[in-house]
Amino acid sequence: MKVAKFGGTSLADAGQIQKVVQIVKADPTRRIVVVSAPGKRFSGDIKVTDLLIALAKAVLAGRPFESELAAVVERYAGIQQALNLDREVVTEIENDLRCRIQNRCENEAQFLDAIKAAGEDNCAKLMARVFTQQGLPARYVDPREAGMLLSEDFGNAQVLPESYTRLAALRNVPETVVFPGFFGYTQRGQVATFPRGGSDITGSILAAAVGAHQYENFTDVDSVFAIDPRILPNPRPIPVLTYREMRELAYAGFGVFHDEAIVPVVQAKIPICIKNTNRPDAPGTLIVPQRKYRHGEVIGIASADGFSTINLSKYMMNREVGFGRRLLQILEQEQLSFEHVPSGIDSMSVILRRAPLTRKKEEHVLNRIREELRPDDVTIAHDLALIMVVGEGMRYAVGMAAKACAALANTGVNIEMINQGSSEISIMFGVKEMDHKTAVEALGRALLAS
Ligand code: ASP
Repeated sequence: MKVAKFGGTSLADAGQIQKVVQIVKADPTRRIVVVSAPGKRFSGDIKVTDLLIALAKAVLAGRPFESELAAVVERYAGIQQALNLDREVVTEIENDLRCRIQNRCENEAQFLDAIKAAGEDNCAKLMARVFTQQGLPARYVDPREAGMLLSEDFGNAQVLPESYTRLAALRNVPETVVFPGFFGYTQRGQVATFPRGGSDITGSILAAAVGAHQYENFTDVDSVFAIDPRILPNPRPIPVLTYREMRELAYAGFGVFHDEAIVPVVQAKIPICIKNTNRPDAPGTLIVPQRKYRHGEVIGIASADGFSTINLSKYMMNREVGFGRRLLQILEQEQLSFEHVPSGIDSMSVILRRAPLTRKKEEHVLNRIREELRPDDVTIAHDLALIMVVGEGMRYAVGMAAKACAALANTGVNIEMINQGSSEISIMFGVKEMDHKTAVEALGRALLAS
């Protein structure tokens, strides 16, 4: 049994939906289908999820929202007409949206999630009809009834462990299951969504829950590539990756698969196959627990902007018991998660994502650090990019860091930070955002060609 997840571009219009129907019909083991909301039809188009966010914001601001609502309904109407579905499909979607707006709750994040979830939910209902109409009996499954239970972190929810046993019952549904991605319900019955791109996570949870033999993730590229083609053209496609390699690459910007989506399938050792809806016969990329690798081989290089660094220095820091704990405790109390903590004898830096660090929060955190830790100096910089050089073959390979550092030095890029985890399958470099592209290109040329 396979779980097949289709991303937004695979469901963007009637033409793409027809491809999805053919793919699902072609393999009877594709028993559970997870869908995103319709995505971009062309570059510059707007995803349904973003249209829904605009709708929710208009409602929250107390502005008229009819045009935002019409923009969402119109996307589904286009699909309904092209596929000759009953007109009532569109009426139901419009009623559903109005009902969600009417049931507006006090908590803004919670309301936003209820509206965002409408994209996937209505797409799943529509797809169940399309499959059935085209001769494949299918059933829409409501995540609430199926038991997709999530934490109350609206917009950033996590699955609750008890979901797995409940969702296992999906194995026994006789029809093809069509399950909406991206959202579930809290214990108290509120809609909650995963982070953006979270339908990948839904697919992975379902694959683990039903014990699928493969989790297929259909997107719009033939495979995962070794490096961003906008930085180094014609990169090598990667046929096989390990979970750990994919997690590291996805963490630092390989957008093809959500980094959190690896977790549910890891324990169950279910292989993930990334495939292209537009070319389903292309082999794609297989993600597995282990693979054969060449000694010294780098499989991919990923990078992402948008990090900030808090730098502290204090003479004799190394002798001050509890300094690190108290620093991290401040971040914990301010609800900020940290990414890395490189340190020296008298200095310590904390790397965080820039997005949650509002100006007000930043000021407050720095003040607390000054008052509670009394450092000699504390500064913050907002222009850090992280680059991950990843490969199982890097383990025990002497000279990998030297090769990478030499490549950066030769292009005149200053390394702000370097970090190698104990797993030794990746080296992370921090560089200024303005050096980001130059650095990745230099690393790609030096390390991927070998
Ligand atoms: N539709 C949601 C988003 O755009 C979730 C997903 O597509 O995975 O983020």
